[in-house]
Amino acid sequence: MGIRVMKFGGTSVGSLERMKRVARRIADRFDAGDQVVVVVSAMGKTTDELVRLAEQTAKRPNKRELDLLLSTGEQQAIALLTMTLNDLGYAAVSLTGWQAGIRTDSVFGNARIQSIHTERLHEHLRRGEIVVVAGFQGISDRDDITTLGRGGSDTTAVALAAALNAELCEIYTDVDGVFTTDPRVVPAARKIDEISYDEMLEMAYLGAGVLHPRAVENAKKYGVPLVVRSSFNDSPGTVIKEETVLEKNNSVTGLAFERDVARISVIGLPNRLSKLTEVFEVLAQARINVDIIVQNVLSEAETTVSFTLAGKDLDEAAAVLRSQQKKLDFRLLDIETGLAKVSIIGSGMASNPGVAAAMFKALTDRSILIKMVSTSEIKVSTVIPLDRMEEALTALHATFRLEDPAYTALKR
Ligand code: ADP
Ligand code: ASP
Ligand code: MG
Repeated sequence: MGIRVMKFGGTSVGSLERMKRVARRIADRFDAGDQVVVVVSAMGKTTDELVRLAEQTAKRPNKRELDLLLSTGEQQAIALLTMTLNDLGYAAVSLTGWQAGIRTDSVFGNARIQSIHTERLHEHLRRGEIVVVAGFQGISDRDDITTLGRGGSDTTAVALAAALNAELCEIYTDVDGVFTTDPRVVPAARKIDEISYDEMLEMAYLGAGVLHPRAVENAKKYGVPLVVRSSFNDSPGTVIKEETVLEKNNSVTGLAFERDVARISVIGLPNRLSKLTEVFEVLAQARINVDIIVQNVLSEAETTVSFTLAGKDLDEAAAVLRSQQKKLDFRLLDIETGLAKVSIIGSGMASNPGVAAAMFKALTDRSILIKMVSTSEIKVSTVIPLDRMEEALTALHATFRLEDPAYTALKR
């Protein structure tokens, strides 16, 4: 008899009807003889609605208060799901993040789990109870409630699985598994049977919303066996593990994208090494994350640096840089919005030259302007106009034959 962690996302518990089906599924697992720890997200769009409420109340809601507010969504869900299980005749108990012993740092809105004190969880499991834990939340060492960042219930589930030494962590969601890209955007997307931690990590960091990046990070770090599958049917889903033989030979395993990308160019900086540092120090002090950076030395005297960032951070970044214009000594700022980042990911890329060239050709053949590029061993990212994003994804999906399960680069 092992411990299973089963995590259900917002859509999967979006109505009482759906919650009942989820409860039945949990009960079946329990009846099969496992100890079951359930992690659940807020019902449907509850978190979005709470964010909206806060934004209607205050221009820049206090982050501590916002976390307290957002954590209530999950609290409703665990209570209701536990009542549903009780009603089916099962002994179950709900625990908030702090009751489950989940300690985090105090970065409100994006807290990291630092430790999990499992005594209480074990106590309930020993009593033969199903334990239902609120996802996405924890408590800081000052006893403030924190949240783990949007989509963070996945991370709760994996962290609990690691702490409890669970034999499996299952992420139940509203699609059949991890696809070659978001099936809502590219209908030809194909479900992947197996994917390595490293590829999944890149996919998640580069925008594939199906798994929270830190969940994958923890799964890899602690070797947690992870499955993503549908809460609406019994299909086996996607296994995420250390190495996969089949997909390893693929030059490209999947595509990911981010919609809300902006670019700032700091034009006419004095051409001194220290200037680059100063620009990014100013942004770092304001806690603004930048993504792709390109520096262009235009002449001996002058240089221009461009970088991308999330559109939501644009106004603040521009304001911070403008406030330091004299000190940084640049001529002007150029700002561009309406961009998207499209990435190809695959661990076979390193041993298959020409993958980046094939990507650029697919885009330029369609006159899709590539504004920036960044690469690593297992990915190539391009920044392109947002209004061409879907077309770009569809073209790349076909170029790398991602719809074809039998295809590997070696067979070419
Ligand atoms: P949950 O509420 O269950 O956590 P999410 O909305 O966070 O669900 O994640 C599931 C969604 O992720 C899917 O509905 C799909 O639109 C999106 N998605 C993005 N990229 C992918 C991908 N590569 N494979 C599968 N789903 C993806
Ligand atoms: N309810 C939170 C969110 O909507 C956490 C999650 O769904 O994983 O972001
Ligand atoms: Mg999610």
